[in-house]
Amino acid sequence: MDIQEIVSNQQAFFKTQQTKNLKFRKMYLEKLRDIILKNEDLLYEAIHKDFGKSKFDTFTTELSFVLNDIHYYLKNLNSLSKPKKVTTNLSNQIGKSSIHPEPLGCVLVIGAWNYPYQLSLSPMIAALAAGNCCILKPSEIAENTMKVMAKLINENFPPEYLYVYEGGIDKTTELLKLKFDKIFFTGSTKVGKIVYKAAAEHLTPVVLELGGKSPAIITKDADLEVAAKRIVWGKFLNAGQTCVAPDYLLVEEAIHEQFLEMLRKYITEFKYESGSEQYTRIINRKNFDRLIKLIDQEKIYFGGNFDETKLHIEPTILHNVTWEDDVMQEEIFGPILPVITFTHFNPVLNTILDHEKPLAAYLFTHNSEEKEAFTSKLSFGGGCINDVIMHLGNERLPFGGVGASGIGNYHGKYGFEAFSHQKSILEKATWGEPNIKYPPYSEKKLSWIKKLL
Ligand code: NAD
Repeated sequence: MDIQEIVSNQQAFFKTQQTKNLKFRKMYLEKLRDIILKNEDLLYEAIHKDFGKSKFDTFTTELSFVLNDIHYYLKNLNSLSKPKKVTTNLSNQIGKSSIHPEPLGCVLVIGAWNYPYQLSLSPMIAALAAGNCCILKPSEIAENTMKVMAKLINENFPPEYLYVYEGGIDKTTELLKLKFDKIFFTGSTKVGKIVYKAAAEHLTPVVLELGGKSPAIITKDADLEVAAKRIVWGKFLNAGQTCVAPDYLLVEEAIHEQFLEMLRKYITEFKYESGSEQYTRIINRKNFDRLIKLIDQEKIYFGGNFDETKLHIEPTILHNVTWEDDVMQEEIFGPILPVITFTHFNPVLNTILDHEKPLAAYLFTHNSEEKEAFTSKLSFGGGCINDVIMHLGNERLPFGGVGASGIGNYHGKYGFEAFSHQKSILEKATWGEPNIKYPPYSEKKLSWIKKLL
């Protein structure tokens, strides 16, 4: 069966109305949970083959998210999908107003490779929970995880409801020519633009989960030990191949030497060595070569070593970095951490404002004025004060970018809404209506209308 036929079959299946049934949705969500639990080892093996990711990291940063999502939707599906009553305004009396969430139809989810399970399955689960049919196209770059997702899903789900389509750029290009009711894309800003253009041809709405350079600011009023520990963890998790990892640090001059020492201490303590359980390798040669070029030998404060045969790059801190350096011109997406120093807090916020809006931003401080300025002045997808990355772990917070870092958001109820249409219904009584809106008009009617509206 070719993909065109599978999409047509999904569109036909959607029209049978079966996916609107909550029991149907719950049955398949439970089935997916059971398949994941039964095949946990296969999932660990595949991701380990792709980029050496440990069981521990795979569970905490991938499978736990996916399982929590299923649990959340199973628990909240009734309330999320229930019509909501709203007040009816005076000019629509006598009437009742309500909002009915409805699924969109057949949706396409395109995943990224860096958290291949979470970034493919989480949006897919939200799409199914909201009552859609779904085509999932995981990233071909993490080939083994793509294959295992395709095997487990395509062997257990009817293709007219859910289907995993394997392939690279040529297959994605082919897919993007077809008409979907929503496209949910996770990946680079460059490919996001390609997806957006293709979607526009069919007026298909999109969610674009993109990237960018996410700053972390550390001021002299921070708890430096806590800041260093959390930043080292968040930056070198997945060898820096995390869309919301702190891309670079802005450190107040007065504490910067002390802070660099603390970063060094935690990198050593966490034992991020080649081949260790704690440390992931770079996904492929292309990214490895790109990253190596960003390491300015003159500016290495810590690390800088790499092993070509194992695609391993040591956690690397660059100091004396300026905004003009190569490492500051693009999203790093690897284990290189440039540090820029500053002397005044407000000008540093203005410099961030002069760049594209990042996916995440982080501030380490106990100073409430700095917290207030950070939250109100900067625009970014989401972030933390006194931590990094962890905002993603709260399903009550929407996750998504703004400006160049993305369009739309998901997680928890926001994921359900991303794949739903909010249909408005006004139901009117057939009695008790004044004649005032109907012609023939008169000055008297107009003066009443003015009072009423
Ligand atoms: P990518 O844009 O190269 O690829 C993403 C997907 O697009 C893949 O499935 C791929 O097959 C497809 N694709 C690639 N080139 C294409 C083309 N020319 N036409 C059509 N489809 C194409 O991104 P990536 O390398 O997988 O991920 C890295 C980027 O993704 C980083 O910028 C990172 O910040 C971002 N990212 C964002 C999030 C988020 O949630 N916001 C999460 C992870 C990664």
